[in-house]
Amino acid sequence: MTQTTTIQALIDNYDALLLDAYGVLVTAGGSLPGAAAVVQNLASRGRPYFVVTNDASRLPGAIAARLQGLGLPIEAERVVSSGALLTPYFREHGLAGCHTAVFGPADSQTYVRDAGGVVVEPGEAFDVLAVCDEHDTPFLEGANEALSSAYAQLERGATPRLVLPNPDLIAPHGHGRFGFTAGALALLIEHGLALRYPERDDLRFDALGKPQTPLFDEAIRRAGSRNVVMIGDQLATDIAGANAAGIDSALITGGVATASIPAGGPQPTWLLPPLGDA
Ligand SMILES: [Mg+2]
Repeated sequence: MTQTTTIQALIDNYDALLLDAYGVLVTAGGSLPGAAAVVQNLASRGRPYFVVTNDASRLPGAIAARLQGLGLPIEAERVVSSGALLTPYFREHGLAGCHTAVFGPADSQTYVRDAGGVVVEPGEAFDVLAVCDEHDTPFLEGANEALSSAYAQLERGATPRLVLPNPDLIAPHGHGRFGFTAGALALLIEHGLALRYPERDDLRFDALGKPQTPLFDEAIRRAGSRNVVMIGDQLATDIAGANAAGIDSALITGGVATASIPAGGPQPTWLLPPLGDA
């Protein structure tokens, strides 16, 4: 039985806090109750903390600016975002100069260009499909374009590379509302590819963000300690990723996840009520 803890106990007992953004500090609709007080508490105690987010729709400076605009005075240096993982991914796979179709707004395209990709228009042939974010690309129309283009390339004998900086399926929109996000779009495209090419096991997205370990590794490096705790709202990304990275975790309940945690799946170190309930 996982024990319930408090944010104050986490602040007192760990060298640094790793905070997920959506579902912990903010939703798509604004900041969450209690988030500003926690940020002030961390700042006044000089306690290190980092925002570890799968958000690949904004550059770290823009993520910090949005948080600041919502009353959370968090500097860009504290933001560890999944979009930045495109640079090592493109380098490791020799993808510089590759034509890349991008789901997401302008900053998502900047992440791809910074990584060395050449961004193409929707419907154009691509070597790489980067599903960064659900905004600014029409969800269903974009999926249709990507699927059709991938089918055409596979018929010609080419295999497009599929990369997913943000594997989240669902994001909280605030006030009891939820929405599908980039990971759900990638899943749709993957299933579409599997229907036509059931024998191919290589037509899968490479997930970069949580639950993969690079974001955690970067945050641990910046914190200068492994005695850190990841606070997140999703078992499949925040908690599974923290477990894989070998650090403690606290699951915020009452959002995407409930306090009833399925046996056999990822288990958090702690349960934590929403920050505003403290
Ligand atoms: Mg979240």
